[in-house]
Amino acid sequence: MMRLLPFSTSAAALVAALFVAPSQEGGEGAKPDEAGVAEASAARAAQLPEDSLLIDRGEGRLPLRIPGAEELEFRVLVDLGIGDVNVGTVTLSSGIEPYRSGLPMPGAKAGDEQKSGWLRSNARGGHLGYELDHELKSTFQPVPFPRIFHRDTQTGTENRRRELKIGERDGKTIATFQDDGHCQGCDRPEHVVSSSLPWGKDHHCKKCKRAEHRVWTEIEQRDVPADTLDMLGAIYLSRSLLVEGLEETSFPMLDKLELWTVTLRPGGTKAIETKAGRFECIEMLLETTLPEGEPGDRDFSGIFGIRGEIHIWAEANTGVPVRIEGEVPVGDLFSLDVMVDLKRHEGTPQAFRTVSR
Ligand SMILES: [Zn+2]
Ligand SMILES: [Zn+2]
Repeated sequence: MMRLLPFSTSAAALVAALFVAPSQEGGEGAKPDEAGVAEASAARAAQLPEDSLLIDRGEGRLPLRIPGAEELEFRVLVDLGIGDVNVGTVTLSSGIEPYRSGLPMPGAKAGDEQKSGWLRSNARGGHLGYELDHELKSTFQPVPFPRIFHRDTQTGTENRRRELKIGERDGKTIATFQDDGHCQGCDRPEHVVSSSLPWGKDHHCKKCKRAEHRVWTEIEQRDVPADTLDMLGAIYLSRSLLVEGLEETSFPMLDKLELWTVTLRPGGTKAIETKAGRFECIEMLLETTLPEGEPGDRDFSGIFGIRGEIHIWAEANTGVPVRIEGEVPVGDLFSLDVMVDLKRHEGTPQAFRTVSR
């Protein structure tokens, strides 16, 4: 039971998956007449957030679109066999801000406004004494390194920090990773604990869950493919992919320093009833596999803790995620069905709307 929350959190991140608004690029079909073009572009605009930042991912690759001010709030429901239990809330949000730095992108002209965009997943919950607040935040910056800065922070009963940076250095695309762990020993007085026994001595704490006893470990580094995304970026890109109507797409994604291939495949359609209303949705199946050449001895723990296929029900016009379903393993023996369901939204594209029965 204690494990439910970390899993649901993951599911939360997951939720983030369909977050990206459609891109304006691509889609060079037959050219309709002028009225048709105007109509089509108005329809297109309604599919997009009012304000958004387009992140170029290289030639021939779908750009990532970051909605300027969108917030989606979800309930996290776990099927415990006695009905669905609400174990927490996941909020997915995004934004754009001016980028202040003395390092402009090569080729940028003076006066070009530099902007960065961010994506955030925040999961909060509590169950049977276990409290959790888990934030994933990715910032996309107009500099070669780090082009993507992904932070993973968990607070509550357990505390943990991770930082992943992806970008170009010395002509190569690399990633660096750093996390924290319990201090192994030092002279800081705040790491010293008093013995509870009268004859015991004060000593450096060996292990605990206190955030103030954790220190950063050494930075690790590896080479990655040029179009590698972090987890939140992958999720948002899946939203773009859906809106572009692509049949199936794969791209590399990093979880810590582990490289995975994410494959997105559209499935069936159906109306989904949520607390935020009823939406016409397309199912997106998200699968994660080991890329060729990667060490094959590690277990795939699933994006956001969900093992196997992740089912994302995305609103058909805009790709905004409405429901995410998957199985979360509990120990080695069984798994739980988790459902992340839309509760409230703001800043969503105009074409994101409810349908009647
Ligand atoms: Zn210490
Ligand atoms: Zn300690």
